[in-house]
Order: sequence, then C-alpha cells, then structure tokens
Amino acid sequence: MMKMNREVAGLITFILETVPSSQLIQKWGSTLFYSTVLSLQRNYPAVRSFKSLEKDFRDYFQKQTTLLTTNQVVANNWFSDLRDRIHLDSTRAYLSGSLYEDRKVTFNTSMQDEIERRVGEQTSYLASFRDEFNAGKYKGTPSKALWRAGLYASFLAVMFRAGWIAKQAEDTVIFWRVTPGKEHCGECLELEMGGPYTRKTLPKLPGEATCRGNCGCYLETKQGKKV
Ligand SMILES: [Zn+2]
Repeated sequence: MMKMNREVAGLITFILETVPSSQLIQKWGSTLFYSTVLSLQRNYPAVRSFKSLEKDFRDYFQKQTTLLTTNQVVANNWFSDLRDRIHLDSTRAYLSGSLYEDRKVTFNTSMQDEIERRVGEQTSYLASFRDEFNAGKYKGTPSKALWRAGLYASFLAVMFRAGWIAKQAEDTVIFWRVTPGKEHCGECLELEMGGPYTRKTLPKLPGEATCRGNCGCYLETKQGKKV
C-alpha cells in the first residue's frame, strides 16, 4: 500500500520534472513509474486532462499507423513505439479516473495488478496487429488498418472508468446506461437491463462490449455521478 503525503508528492513532482519520459517508460511497472504518473495526473482536473489525453492518443495512433501503411516506419518500431504509448497513457487514464470523484491519492497493489493485466491484454492485441500486418493482411486496405488503430482510443476510456471504479465502495449502486437517441447493440441493452450492479458484480465496462463503445454507454451511480 502506497500512501503519499504532500512532501512525498512534492518530491515526486521534482522527479517527474527531471526524469525524461523515455527513461520513465523503461521503468513501467515500478513504484517510481506509478508514483510519478500519479503525481502528473493529480496536477490536472481529471476530466479535462483525460479528454486531451484521449485526443492526443487517438491522433498519435492514427499518425503512426499512417506511417506504417505507407512504409515510412517498419512494423517492429511501430509496435514498440505504440506499446510504450499504451503503457504510459493507459496508466495516466486509469489514475485520472481514480482521482475523478475523490482527489485523495490512493494507490495499491490491486490497482497496479489491474493496470498491468489490462495493458498486457492490449499489448498482445497490438502484437497480433503487427504480425497480421507483416503477413500482408492490410496490403491494399490501409483504411482497415487505420480503423483498427482507432479502436485503441476506446481502450483509454475503459481505463479511466476502471480507475474510477477501483475507488468506489463495495456497496455503491452502479447503473449501466445507454445514451438515448444512439443506436444500441444487443449486448449493451442487456447490460442495462441486467443492472444495477456493484463494483464486484459489474460484468464489464462501457467500451468493452462488442460495439467497443459505439453505443455511447456510461455508468451512473445512485447519487447521479456519471462516468
Ligand atoms: Zn453497445
């Protein structure tokens, strides 16, 4: 369990400003990495910081994947670059979500395990993307590769919600909501009807259903907090 007081947070801000992000990335999974990213996120209002993070992340994936499909970057470099980006930005999204409702800095091993499990899954999808690209799957269809790259942006929203949920009490009542006026997939409608849930019973997060967030679903607590 890692709890930080103001002095420690100040020290971490100092480390953050002096450790280049390339070195920070190499320490992914270490206490230094998490405490530094946490300190970075707590300096910004959670939602505004998340929205700009999500936009930059989406733009970066599109840009790098355009370079890949036009043979301006080799697939292995594309992969390691985007993998690092997933490591850093997913962690930022998760920690941003954890500070959304409650600015108190909390970070524990189960949060760390969750980040590493979720990011590990995405990294293996990215590796299959690379392997399929190398096998010629996207030859002549660069728009399909770009579409696939776009799916990663919805993963950041999943991480934000996962971070928010990690700090909810076990008895917080959580509703799955579909956005009125949007087209809904069957799975999201079922998830809405299956509720309400708690942190422990919620089967998945908006963005993880087969529509990948296309339904515009969100979570809402009994108190009206929407995430
Ligand atoms: Zn859906």
